[in-house]
Amino acid sequence: MLPFIRSDLGELSAYTPNPGGTPDEPAPISPDRLDANESPYDLPDELKQKQAWTYLQEIESNRYPDGTYTALKQAIAEYVCESAAPEPADNITPDRITAGNGSDELIRSLIIATCLRGEGSVLVANPTFSMYAILAETLGVPVVPVGRNPTNFEIDLAAAQLAIEKTQNPPVRAVFVVHPNSPTANALTPAELDWLRSLPPQILAVIDEAYFEFSRNTVAGELHRHPNWVILRTFSKGFRLAAHRIGYAIGNPELIAALEKIRLPYNLPSFTQAAALSALRHRQQLLASVPEIIAERDKLRDALAQMPALQVWPSDANFIYLRLKDAGGADALANITQQLRAGGTLVRHTGGGLRITVGTPDENARTIQRLQLLFSR
Ligand SMILES: *Cc1c(COP(=O)(O)O)cnc(C)c1O
Repeated sequence: MLPFIRSDLGELSAYTPNPGGTPDEPAPISPDRLDANESPYDLPDELKQKQAWTYLQEIESNRYPDGTYTALKQAIAEYVCESAAPEPADNITPDRITAGNGSDELIRSLIIATCLRGEGSVLVANPTFSMYAILAETLGVPVVPVGRNPTNFEIDLAAAQLAIEKTQNPPVRAVFVVHPNSPTANALTPAELDWLRSLPPQILAVIDEAYFEFSRNTVAGELHRHPNWVILRTFSKGFRLAAHRIGYAIGNPELIAALEKIRLPYNLPSFTQAAALSALRHRQQLLASVPEIIAERDKLRDALAQMPALQVWPSDANFIYLRLKDAGGADALANITQQLRAGGTLVRHTGGGLRITVGTPDENARTIQRLQLLFSR
């Protein structure tokens, strides 16, 4: 390795979400992309046309974007208040919002704001969203992993509590949870929520609601009682804007102010800001796809659950998590992933199971057919 590069980076590998083909395993031509939990539906044509018009008429490509995105924060705040109903969340004002280039950027900013300079470690419960640990490691921040109940994937709360009490030099400063979790698709349980409520003020609880539009579970109504909680959301899933890279955080104004200090200037391109504003304005139309995806999810889940080889869990999100009933282990799963890929369906092999995004009805039918074919051999 080049002698000026930080020594610990030698151990890390770059995140390759959609690996391209290799000579041995060429990438399928136009596969069903069910490996990243995106919406299967592009924006409606008329909204795309409006975006194109915005680009032509309103965006000056020689100018930096609005670096404060006041209008966007206001619109996000309104959406969050509305989405917290029936709990009162009218105290969610724009000073409680910051936006990032994907919520990935905000995850990194939160780790920088809490743990850098050897001041803190990050606690995660595996299997969970892999970016928390990846981003912490790239910043040289220690990750403290705990497990989950293998039946319902509830966090091992006794282990988590013990880890918090035992971890020193540096102590746990941030706990990352997903509501509902990825890849296991389960929402936080009452016991998990109580544990988050019990965390001491010097530990930040990051509650990632990336799948809120599907689950409708949110802790937004409770946020004002917990200065050490922050909610993350994204436009990449239910809002169908993954191409634009935008997520947001909702939290205590002092935490938001700290995140603003860390944020890169102009982190949100003008076109991204415009796309997010437009998506919020047309949210009824865009989110009309959510009940359809949920109905498809339930059909897909029922079909998968009938395959004797598979153990399939319930889902509060737009993806399904399953494992093999017989311990064929990681090799068998890797093999299935590879064969599905060769057949034209991309899924994610992670956390000892497969995570399959709910696609269009045609894509889901192909997923079922391709799996049936594999198990009939
Ligand atoms: C998809 C996802 C995100 C979204 O990340 P973006 O950077 O906003 O695209 C965040 N957290 C979880 C758990 C996710 O699954």
